[in-house]
Amino acid sequence: MDKQILEIVLKDEIMQIMSLPVMSLIRETVRTENVRAYIIGGFVRDLILQRKSKDIDIVVEGSGIEIAEKVANKLNICVNIFKNFGTAMLKTDDIEIEFVGARKESYRMESRKPVVENGTLEDDQNRRDFTINTLAISLNYMDLGSITDPFNGVDDMAKKLIRTPLNPDMTFSDDPLRMMRAIRFATQLDFVISEETFEAIKRNAERISIISKERICEEINKIIMTNSPSSGFFLLEKSGLLKLIFPQLSLLRGVESKNGVKHKDNFEHTLQVLDNVAVKSDSLWLRWAALLHDIAKPATKKFDEHAGWTFHGHEFLGSKMIPGIFKQLRLPLNEKMKYVQKLVLLHLRPIVLAQEEVTDSAVRRLLFDAGDDIDDLMALCDADITSKNKKTVETYLSRFQLVRTKLKEIEEKDAIRNFQPPVSGEIIMKTYNIGPSREVGLIKNAIKEAILDGLIKNNYDEAFEFMKREAAKLGLTIDAS
Ligand code: ATP
Ligand code: MG
Repeated sequence: MDKQILEIVLKDEIMQIMSLPVMSLIRETVRTENVRAYIIGGFVRDLILQRKSKDIDIVVEGSGIEIAEKVANKLNICVNIFKNFGTAMLKTDDIEIEFVGARKESYRMESRKPVVENGTLEDDQNRRDFTINTLAISLNYMDLGSITDPFNGVDDMAKKLIRTPLNPDMTFSDDPLRMMRAIRFATQLDFVISEETFEAIKRNAERISIISKERICEEINKIIMTNSPSSGFFLLEKSGLLKLIFPQLSLLRGVESKNGVKHKDNFEHTLQVLDNVAVKSDSLWLRWAALLHDIAKPATKKFDEHAGWTFHGHEFLGSKMIPGIFKQLRLPLNEKMKYVQKLVLLHLRPIVLAQEEVTDSAVRRLLFDAGDDIDDLMALCDADITSKNKKTVETYLSRFQLVRTKLKEIEEKDAIRNFQPPVSGEIIMKTYNIGPSREVGLIKNAIKEAILDGLIKNNYDEAFEFMKREAAKLGLTIDAS
């Protein structure tokens, strides 16, 4: 699109931003300081694509930090300065504004850290990653609101194209994180990576090794949080990046055939499960559970003459693999990890349950093991039904519905979801005048099992009577003294 037409189309939006009190102040400050400044990058892209964005990046032909300090002074607010990066950030009216001096960058082979010199707007646009991220809107008196689009980024937005402004091999070799960003933007925006740019990613994939795991993980998380994350993972795989950044996932790829029996491609299946979950939930961790639910299939794969391909125990091994994977990817080693482990471990249980008669005790045990994560587990199981056979899908989903009804019934009756032993260890110790011991554990466990099996109700009286019988079996008597 012609830049003048674009300026007309976006006139109202640009005026709206320019008239924000903080923007007027910035304009006034750059004018009196006699420097030029521009809104640049992601904010301009998102404005044109009509996506919401709150962060504004401003590039100053001069010192970004000085301008930020002056603006913050006038507003009487704090400014965060990142001297190493030459940037400064202030936050006002819910908008984060980051100032940076225009830079000219050159890179050396062995490092991600460029040699940086002061530069012009043009230099700064040249060092940006994709054409759609290079647009700038002037904040200057002479041409306020005019758009600079040196690489036809607007056309690429119309064509839904991710393309580097300069030679893609240089762009990716200089900063290999950009390869991840290309795939992330393509997934987020539902764009295509130009052939030339994608071929360069393939050629430079190995360079990803100089990027920190944390930054790679940020991009993976952003891909997972898109509406259709599978397309991002297919691109990662096709580019050769996946086997370098997340080898366990790339091992799921492929179909083996023996005696004419094939198993399904577990990579495709996993990604479909992830997409299915993404339709239902914005939870990053439920999405991670979907991505990892079959992660141990390659390691447990066997061929049996009668049963065909089996993956026995993949849920156990999978849940055991999670801490190592979280550590390797720099995901948090906290309760989120435990949640993912739990969902991976339990992901077959509702399916097994739905295949058999749905007994109360099996439902109680599932509720006990899943606790408050039962709804997420059921959502994962719904998503896991990826058969192309409509009838199979319907059968499973309707059985899951039955399991859900049972779960609700049992929970209302027995309150298992947040199970607290109705007779505590303290009560057992006090009753028999004993200290912490093996016996206390045995009795407590027997009470829990009896409740889950439905032999006794989940209340104090029945549990106390049961405790007496169990204690007697262990030779314990109530001390009358
Ligand atoms: P989002 O905020 O959704 O991640 P964004 O495009 O705003 O997308 P930021 O990381 O906020 O991304 O960066 C702001 C701008 O800085 C980008 O639009 C791009 O112009 C530039 N940029 C960021 N990272 C790089 C990079 N690694 N190489 C080159 N330019 C970059
Ligand atoms: Mg941004």
